[in-house]
Amino acid sequence: MIWSRVATDIHGKSLTSPDISTLSAEELQQFVHEFHIQNIALEIRNQELQESQSCYRMLCQNMLEGFAYCKILYDEDCRPCDWIYLDVNRAFERLSGLNNLVGVKVTEAIPGIKEAHPELFEIYGRVALTGQSEKFEIDFKPLGIFLDISVFSPAKDHFIAVFENVTDRRRAQKENEALQAQLIQAQKMEAIGTLAGGIYHDFNNLLQVIVGYSEILLQRKQLNESDYADLEQIYEAGKRGAELIQGLMTFSRKDDIQTKPINLEVQIRQFKNILSRTIHKMIRIELMFDPALALIKADPGQMEQVLMNLAVNARDAMSDKGKITIGAKNTILDETYCNTHVGVKPGPYVLLTFSDTGTGMDKETLSHIFEPFFTTKAEGKGTGLGLATVYGIVKRHNGSIDCESEPGHGTTFKIYLPAIPPDEKVSIDKTPVSPKSGMETILFVDDEEPVRIVSSRMLKSAGYGVLTACNGKQAVDLFKREGGNISLVILDLLMPVMDGQECLEEILRIDPKAKVIIATGVTTNNKQISLAIDTGARVAVHKPYDMTEMLKMIRDILGKT
Ligand code: ADP
Ligand code: MG
Repeated sequence: MIWSRVATDIHGKSLTSPDISTLSAEELQQFVHEFHIQNIALEIRNQELQESQSCYRMLCQNMLEGFAYCKILYDEDCRPCDWIYLDVNRAFERLSGLNNLVGVKVTEAIPGIKEAHPELFEIYGRVALTGQSEKFEIDFKPLGIFLDISVFSPAKDHFIAVFENVTDRRRAQKENEALQAQLIQAQKMEAIGTLAGGIYHDFNNLLQVIVGYSEILLQRKQLNESDYADLEQIYEAGKRGAELIQGLMTFSRKDDIQTKPINLEVQIRQFKNILSRTIHKMIRIELMFDPALALIKADPGQMEQVLMNLAVNARDAMSDKGKITIGAKNTILDETYCNTHVGVKPGPYVLLTFSDTGTGMDKETLSHIFEPFFTTKAEGKGTGLGLATVYGIVKRHNGSIDCESEPGHGTTFKIYLPAIPPDEKVSIDKTPVSPKSGMETILFVDDEEPVRIVSSRMLKSAGYGVLTACNGKQAVDLFKREGGNISLVILDLLMPVMDGQECLEEILRIDPKAKVIIATGVTTNNKQISLAIDTGARVAVHKPYDMTEMLKMIRDILGKT
């Protein structure tokens, strides 16, 4: 083959022209023929190469993923510090929102990228150096999107990165995870609710028997009999059990609620008054409201209980310094929220936020807080029913509750309650809801054991601390010892050892500003009552009194400073 001899020469770099003169006419003709054919082949190959290049270009330009071909730049310490875009495709321009990138440095195109993502410089540098491809996902802060990036290196110091925007997929995945977690949480709470509801009835009946019979036995005994104290223990334990089971009932949504249109702002403001009087002075309380807060349909008593339970926890989490912020604003819950929150319907809501600057919680604690009887507090300090009750109440109001907390960064509860649409005509009850609970300590003085027990239970369930005394002498002793902590005394007039009048005088001698309510039996005459009032008792009520009225009165008196 003549041509192959010549071609070898050409490839052998020493390009020597073939000595055509040595060829015969026939060989020359064949040579020209072969040359012609080879030339055509070369042309075709060239054309193919061009076609293939433009094909790759088209692919790069039109592929849905972003594409960038870049050259790494190094600093004096040979560390990758920047890169220049040599070529990018349209998808990359769409993705980044940047144009005319060729020849531009990334630090100029996306200022702040170095601070936001130093790891990108490391990865691209490594790939451009070693030639080993890498693939990773990144939450790309400057653009607020999630990117899936594949990087490889076609030549030293160069890299090609292919980007896929996976934000939607990521979001869906996150929603899915949140929904799964919510579902598990909802199922767990539902199961506990069923369990609680199931045992409530039987358990309550058993407790009623224990309480009822121990009460009967107590009435037959004298105070100084040997087993009186033991019986009293049984009675008290039964009562305590009944209180706990009551909390379970609220949680398992077995009791009724009476809703009416209320303005949460009004209720929160009233609650703040109670709170600021009872909570440590170093704890600041701030309120924040939407100027035109929508109304909600709610049971005011239960809303107060929600606020109270959250406040008690916040106080416990802050010891004696910090800030509580309570706010309410209008909001709309959209499909996205409802997709990840079981049983919540889209629509207008009032968002109640309750934040503290306390200890906060870790993830493990956070995942259990709404379970009944879950507590991290020392024995006797916590029942673990506070938040379970809040949860039950919120669910019963068709609302939703979230809690955000981190150790050392405080806690925020977000409660969404369905708002009454503004076009729905409602008449709001203008009479102010008078708050019926508090956290002050009350000294309850009565010689009758059942009265003491029933009343102190009722006062405790309204949030008050309660001390009891069975006669005037005991009351005065207690007042001397605990006077600074006692905000109010409820005093019976007819009692053995030291009667109410004398006790009243003693107490007022110790503290002339002491607040005393006189609770009188049917046998008390009017003269005795007016004497007590003249002495300085704030008000007198007849036994048996209506507990709701009594709680209102207590609040009124405590409210007046
Ligand atoms: P309890 O207060 O009787 O322990 P709760 O149901 O009210 O029961 O609260 C359960 C647990 O949740 C608490 O023991 C505590 O660990 C945690 N917790 C609740 N509220 C807060 C808060 N504001 N800050 C820190 N931890 C809290
Ligand atoms: Mg609590």
